[in-house]
Amino acid sequence: MKGGVIVNQPKLITASLVNREQVTDGLVTIKIRPDIPIRFKPGQYCTVGYKGVERAYSIVSAPHECDLELFVEVLPESEGVLTPLLATLNLGSQLTLRPKCKGIFTLDKKYSSHLMISTVTGIAPYISILRDYFYSDKTGDKFHVLQGASYMDEFVYNTEMVNMVSVHPDSLFYVPTVSRPSESRNISWNGHVGRVNNIVERYIEDIDLNPESTLVYTCGHPGMINSVKELAHSNGFKVKEERFWKD
Ligand SMILES: Cc1cc2nc3c(=O)[nH]c(=O)nc-3n(C[C@H](O)[C@H](O)[C@H](O)COP(=O)(O)OP(=O)(O)OC[C@H]3O[C@@H](n4cnc5c(N)ncnc54)[C@H](O)[C@@H]3O)c2cc1C
Repeated sequence: MKGGVIVNQPKLITASLVNREQVTDGLVTIKIRPDIPIRFKPGQYCTVGYKGVERAYSIVSAPHECDLELFVEVLPESEGVLTPLLATLNLGSQLTLRPKCKGIFTLDKKYSSHLMISTVTGIAPYISILRDYFYSDKTGDKFHVLQGASYMDEFVYNTEMVNMVSVHPDSLFYVPTVSRPSESRNISWNGHVGRVNNIVERYIEDIDLNPESTLVYTCGHPGMINSVKELAHSNGFKVKEERFWKD
């Protein structure tokens, strides 16, 4: 009640946890099934809750899919509240969802070329955008997806990306890079090495991307976002960003 007026709280939607895959010790993908269909634009985030604890998650799935897929970094119990629960709740558990998905980290149609940079879970909104784009048989855009991780097993959507590239070799380009190439977890890695922010400038030069037609998107680790923004701005590019947590 505020000055005698009842302030309407948004009604929460109930959603069941229908699938979870533990990909590494610290990474899970989950699927939740809302009781009623939920509308969103590819690239937006939803707000998921359990017993009143709510957090934002970029949606991996595309609007045509009936379950909402999320890619979650699980924090240790001493540091995080909701993620340790998402990693352990039984399938069938009831979560809540805010009815409105939000965010402006969506595809900017003024540009025909999209340089999408992420660390680990930051790939989530790009997967949604790409699934939707190719499902809808759209054409004419080029997508350059650069993804950084410490370890190769953190490229959870690697197979899907490689498959999409093989079907759309002229419009989708994917460059995963590991920052700790000499560690044993990366022993069979033979791709790019180094932090993703350090390969952006070279990539822009090699591919000859130009700021008039290319928008830079950056999502995930705040330090990576700061570094990419500085570099992109100094090369004349406009940047869209999605921060998962504060520096
Ligand atoms: C728009 C938006 C989209 C997001 N999308 C995703 C997503 O797709 N996947 C995902 O895993 N997270 C995402 N997040 C982060 C998510 O909302 C939670 O903050 C995160 O899951 C931690 O929740 P928690 O309750 O376990 O920990 P909390 O109690 O919320 O956080 C504990 C502390 O850890 C910090 N923190 C949060 N995430 C991380 C991290 N990954 N690494 C280090 N520190 C962190 C928080 O800022 C806080 O200081 C998103 C955040 C925003 C704002």
